[in-house]
Amino acid sequence: MADQRVDVVVVGAGFAGLTAARELTGAGRSVVVLEARDRVGGRTCTEEHLGTWIDLGGQWIGPGQDRIVALVDQLGLRTYPQTEAGDDVILDGDGARRVANVAFGFDDDELTSYLELVGALEAIAEQVPLEAPWSAPRAQEWDAMSLAEWVRTRGVVERVAGLFEVGVQAVFAASSAQLSLLHAAHYLHSAGGWSKLTDSEGGAQQDRVEGGMQPVAEQLASRLPEGTMRLFHAVTSIAQHDDGVRIGVSAPAGPTELDADRVVVAVPPTLAGRIAYDPPLGAQRDQLVQHMPQGSVVKFHVLYEEPWWRDEGLSGMVLAPGEPIGVTFDCTPPAGRPGLISGFFEGPAAVAAGEQTMEERRDVVVDVLARAMGERARDVAGYVDRDWSAEPFTRGCYGAHLPPGAWTVYGPALRRPIGRIHWAGTETAEHWTGYIDGAIDSGQRVAAEVLAALGG
Ligand SMILES: Cc1cc2nc3c(=O)[nH]c(=O)nc-3n(C[C@H](O)[C@H](O)[C@H](O)COP(=O)(O)OP(=O)(O)OC[C@H]3O[C@@H](n4cnc5c(N)ncnc54)[C@H](O)[C@@H]3O)c2cc1C
Repeated sequence: MADQRVDVVVVGAGFAGLTAARELTGAGRSVVVLEARDRVGGRTCTEEHLGTWIDLGGQWIGPGQDRIVALVDQLGLRTYPQTEAGDDVILDGDGARRVANVAFGFDDDELTSYLELVGALEAIAEQVPLEAPWSAPRAQEWDAMSLAEWVRTRGVVERVAGLFEVGVQAVFAASSAQLSLLHAAHYLHSAGGWSKLTDSEGGAQQDRVEGGMQPVAEQLASRLPEGTMRLFHAVTSIAQHDDGVRIGVSAPAGPTELDADRVVVAVPPTLAGRIAYDPPLGAQRDQLVQHMPQGSVVKFHVLYEEPWWRDEGLSGMVLAPGEPIGVTFDCTPPAGRPGLISGFFEGPAAVAAGEQTMEERRDVVVDVLARAMGERARDVAGYVDRDWSAEPFTRGCYGAHLPPGAWTVYGPALRRPIGRIHWAGTETAEHWTGYIDGAIDSGQRVAAEVLAALGG
């Protein structure tokens, strides 16, 4: 006998698992959520540093992300806009130059070329079905090439290609050489277009939640029925029987087991593949998660006494093609102090940064900021970063991506339940896959699926 039997065990207390638990308990089902970490929120994580809260993981929400916007509203939390006032800085082979708008300082020809490139990608994206990208009319052709190969066929000049690549790595945390064109197109469609993904105002970086994003997850968890949440409970095995499923757990007091009618696995695909299944999962599902690596991100925050760059008419945004850090933002809290510049090592640069110490990464970041924004950038009050690939219960961000040839061969296994096992997590979402909104979407979808399987 296992230690307890419930209707549903949910594995993982990120936004996907917590949403599934909320829907299932709301429908009267008994649920236990097993979370490996000592906290809920998964890829969102808010910590206090130098007297201010800092989002080390997911932080922004934007228009079209109806589920997270509604949740923040229901919980009575306040949002504030990402500041954009001031000039951005582009740091590239020509040195640092200030640009006044999103046109990146392109000349007319470059701007036309950039807009044509993005337009052509969006035209492909619109033809990719959200629920089944492998069934797109030219799915085989689009999945046979990387996004980088496709960009080369467009013949854009180096400066346009370079800034497009900064955008790609900011969105996918992987280089365009690592992504199938079909995957990139599906991702764009899932969000509603390129500018939705890359813009602040009107896009995915528009708003922040006061106090940070992880507290939203904490509030979700605190509203679950007593006894639902178990922290420090890492699921190691899932065994299916004729009359249920047995979950093996590594917990502080030693190994334990739970029985359930159904299990929802709401962890990143890579980690879902590390659970031991009995009977073993079919080849298509196992191969799918072998072909879904997480992207690579080190998110950093440089603290200053005050946001000094605002006095100099700068926005705090630096775009730096060719540098280890791709993009930065002014993330100063609404109180106005301390000044905070946040940004990312992404894709291959994040993999390399993961081999450095935090002090070495700080030196790299501060040097780039000083060359881009001026010597005052060296006068730092603090630095903190998080290498998400090194986190044992995440192993990379922002989400997973599929290389050429994977969607069309293994894609159909993404959401298909296997016996009593159901799959959730932002990577399984049709809308805003890779985002917090997508995680909630997947939690709602999987809860409906489980309730139908349980007879309502
Ligand atoms: C640096 C960074 C910046 C980001 N920026 C944004 C942003 O601005 N806006 C946005 O919308 N999204 C952003 N994202 C992405 C967003 O955070 C994720 O899409 C979302 O949080 C994923 O939620 P999830 O529930 O699907 O997965 P997760 O949050 O990964 O949740 C999975 C949970 O499962 C747990 N777990 C793993 N293995 C086991 C196991 N064996 N047993 C039990 N528990 C386990 C994990 O600890 C975790 O809590 C960002 C992510 C990162 C890392």
